[in-house]
Amino acid sequence: MTFADLGLCKPLLDAIKDQGYTKPSPIQQQAIPIILEKKDVLAGAQTGTGKTAGFTLPILQRLFDKKREKGKPHVRALILTPTRELAAQVGENVQTYGKYLPFKSTIIFGGVGINPQKAAIRKGVDILIATPGRLLDLISQDSLDLGRVEFFVLDEADRMLDMGFIHDIKKVLALLPEHRQNLLFSATFSNDIKKLADKLLNNPELIEVARRNTSSESVAQVVHHVDRERKRELLIHLIKKGDWKQVLVFTRTKHGANRLSEQLNRFDISASAIHGNKSQGARTKALSDFKAGNIKVLVATDIAARGIDIDQLPHVVNFELPNIAEDYVHRIGRTGRAGREGEAVSLVCVDEHEYLKGIEKLINKEIEKVDIEGFDVDRSIKAEPITQGRGGRGGSRGGSNNKGNSSRNNRNGNDNRNSKSATRNNSRNNSNGSRNNSRKTQGKSSGKA
Ligand code: AMP
Repeated sequence: MTFADLGLCKPLLDAIKDQGYTKPSPIQQQAIPIILEKKDVLAGAQTGTGKTAGFTLPILQRLFDKKREKGKPHVRALILTPTRELAAQVGENVQTYGKYLPFKSTIIFGGVGINPQKAAIRKGVDILIATPGRLLDLISQDSLDLGRVEFFVLDEADRMLDMGFIHDIKKVLALLPEHRQNLLFSATFSNDIKKLADKLLNNPELIEVARRNTSSESVAQVVHHVDRERKRELLIHLIKKGDWKQVLVFTRTKHGANRLSEQLNRFDISASAIHGNKSQGARTKALSDFKAGNIKVLVATDIAARGIDIDQLPHVVNFELPNIAEDYVHRIGRTGRAGREGEAVSLVCVDEHEYLKGIEKLINKEIEKVDIEGFDVDRSIKAEPITQGRGGRGGSRGGSNNKGNSSRNNRNGNDNRNSKSATRNNSRNNSNGSRNNSRKTQGKSSGKA
């Protein structure tokens, strides 16, 4: 099947050709015809499958087919994402695929000045890509009207719920017109997602490309058992011995991310940390340095890493296993993207054995265990409880009392959060907090779709 077979118009086909895509990915083959048929969609697709083009291309096509009324553009498509990084990423995709079409798109998120966003909206926008917090701020200031939205996309809906955005989502839904097309994308399907889908979607078509909660086939997964205190040493060994050029490393806490990045730099391995406490400017810079190959290692927490799209990322390392098993699937989805080979390495100490069991249960497969010479495990070391919060060592500590680690209620250990509402407040702060670096980022956030 080709993109032309899907019935996309020439401006879209030309933009796709510019990207060098030769054929639609499985999610695109399934989603595009259904969306063009004007149906609601519930899609289970992991990140890295090409899902963004899977909804962006048919929306652009339908906007093109439907033509809008004369006059200033108004918001016809609204794409909600959980994080700024994902909003920026989706926004870039919209501009890339829509570059030969006349539509305007704008990205809206917190942490940057609100006034340029207001100005962009005033000028007229067809497609809005937004995080919920800033979107609602703009609405409350009468700067935005969603009354004529024709297409509503909830991207990475599972992460939205994890981040406590359910109330914000409901508020947004209440502002949308009754007749619209809805698309919900989620990597996993919890009961909460199903409930949300029931409320949001109208007789949806279900699409699932990768089996639910399975990990991407193109990613080679391996576990190295290692002593808690020797993880850093092993990571440095792997990077140097393998001559790794670009590696995304996950820690459970912000503190752990900072510490590891500083330590790597001391060992002449260029690294930056990316997490919710960093200003938007620092996050953007770390990401662009990493993408450009100026730094070898990006150390990230789970929430900060959502939405990062880096082509051909060859290595992902779980310096610490996530306390939520689903996060493992998200993490390793950063590599092996769009069918390319990738490697996901997990450094697992005695404290994390329960986490590992939870992950293997979720992905329904045993991950290969490989011993590294010179890093034999000291079996006399006993498991300790894992501390997630401030002052935690960033190194993995945990115990055998980690049962139920994939429970949603447990997830807030990440980024020092203790409750869902705390998580939500924190993410709202992330969306609305520091206001430095606004113009530079903002300048990029608005443009012709
Ligand atoms: P996504 O799952 O939307 O984050 O996309 C993952 C990556 O796949 C992005 O870097 C896209 O540019 C790329 N991609 C999307 N569609 C295709 C395609 N049909 N062929 C090759 N690469 C693609």
